[in-house]
Amino acid sequence: MIPTSFEYVRAKNLSDALKAMGKNTKVIAGGHSLLPLLRFRLAQPDMLIDIGQLRELKGIKRSGGGLKIGAATTYRELLESKELKALYPLIAEVTEHIGDLQVRNAGTIGGGLAHADPAADMPPVMLVLDATFVLQSKTGKRSVPARKFFKGPFTTALKPNELLTEIQLPALPKGVGTAYASFEQAASGYALAGAVALIAIAKGLITRADLAFTGLGDAPFLAPAAAKLVATTGDASLIDQVAQAAVAGVEANDDVHAPAAYRLHLGRVAARRALTQALAQAQRPG
Ligand SMILES: Cc1cc2nc3c(=O)[nH]c(=O)nc-3n(C[C@H](O)[C@H](O)[C@H](O)COP(=O)(O)OP(=O)(O)OC[C@H]3O[C@@H](n4cnc5c(N)ncnc54)[C@H](O)[C@@H]3O)c2cc1C
Repeated sequence: MIPTSFEYVRAKNLSDALKAMGKNTKVIAGGHSLLPLLRFRLAQPDMLIDIGQLRELKGIKRSGGGLKIGAATTYRELLESKELKALYPLIAEVTEHIGDLQVRNAGTIGGGLAHADPAADMPPVMLVLDATFVLQSKTGKRSVPARKFFKGPFTTALKPNELLTEIQLPALPKGVGTAYASFEQAASGYALAGAVALIAIAKGLITRADLAFTGLGDAPFLAPAAAKLVATTGDASLIDQVAQAAVAGVEANDDVHAPAAYRLHLGRVAARRALTQALAQAQRPG
């Protein structure tokens, strides 16, 4: 289908972009998720504001022990960052699995997070890493924890006049391991069910355990069951129990790609694999 007609403006700077945002406008970054919506007429904006080239929204900077990532940083730029790979190998690992070369060359981390597809790979990573998102409008900025950002399918805490401008990643504890395990829908690469795990250990005992899912529900979510691993050595049978408890009672998506029961099974297996790999990584010397 052909999109409805709209004006197209390439913003010169962030302030111009924020001023131009109005009642029926949409911002476009890489366009990989927005263009299909326009063509199906699921989005019918009067004006598209292109923020894809705004320098203020690009780049990866050190901040304390963590990193700040501009929202319009492309997946390609993430993969090219040695600093990102060294501090958050999980992000590099997950980014390599997103779409294909074209998607990674133009798609932006902020565009993917703002789009909030319930099966996207990056949102559960942000939950586990406990990222904070900076949201900005022409009247000011606010910080929203990733854990409060994803509200439902394609729905976030962003207000219509706000842009996601920055992703802030806190320093990770010492002795940490992270892993992503997913079962992908073959044609799109989106997760039928995916699990992200973070485990930190000190003196042989687990001090922090986080587990988040994508693809299972309306939005990515953290599994409180992961806390059962804290103060244990995380043996295989406990990991198995945690993976089982993590999906128990979840109302899983049921669609042409996979029935709910199968998705839950995949979620359980993904959780077990992610926790096991994260623990092994945390136990590695050095
Ligand atoms: C063929 C294909 C395969 C894919 N496979 C995968 C996959 O395997 N895993 C996966 O996770 N994803 C996958 N994707 C999705 C891809 O990750 C997203 O399309 C991409 O990240 C969106 O970023 P973008 O910059 O292109 O956003 P756009 O398409 O430009 O924008 C998406 C939405 O976010 C809004 N937006 C963009 N930037 C901002 C901002 N800074 N602040 C506020 N709102 C903003 C736009 O208005 C729009 O509503 C795939 C996409 C395609 C086309």
